[in-house]
Amino acid sequence: MEDFQTLLNHIKKHSNTISTKRTYILKEIFFASKPLNAKEIQKSIGNNHNIKISLPALYTSLQYFEELHVINSIFIASIKTKYYYLKGVKSQNFLICLNCGKITSFKDVEINKKVETISQNNSFILLTHKAILYGYCKECDR
Ligand SMILES: [Zn+2]
Repeated sequence: MEDFQTLLNHIKKHSNTISTKRTYILKEIFFASKPLNAKEIQKSIGNNHNIKISLPALYTSLQYFEELHVINSIFIASIKTKYYYLKGVKSQNFLICLNCGKITSFKDVEINKKVETISQNNSFILLTHKAILYGYCKECDR
């Protein structure tokens, strides 16, 4: 999915319409540099569009996007929070703090190359990959 409009058109193939609120929700996830939880999405939409979306409505929409395979989520058990991110982004590398749940994305060309080599060596057609490193962040390691 290269641009947001392409993604919207893809969704409209599955359901005829997409509400303005749902468009905003998807936009937040699409343009986010890291996975977001529902409260962060809610807050950001409030700030950017001055619209209040209730958490139950937000969860329904997120579930809808997950069922359409547009987004993915990671559940961080230690803080009982689910984080949502766009599916199908070529490479996704995250560092996740098990204490505070802070998620940092990182780019690493070497990892991406390595993953491609491993796939080739195994005659495996690689579509996407995800590297998740679990541990403790700087603030929590004190
Ligand atoms: Zn932490």
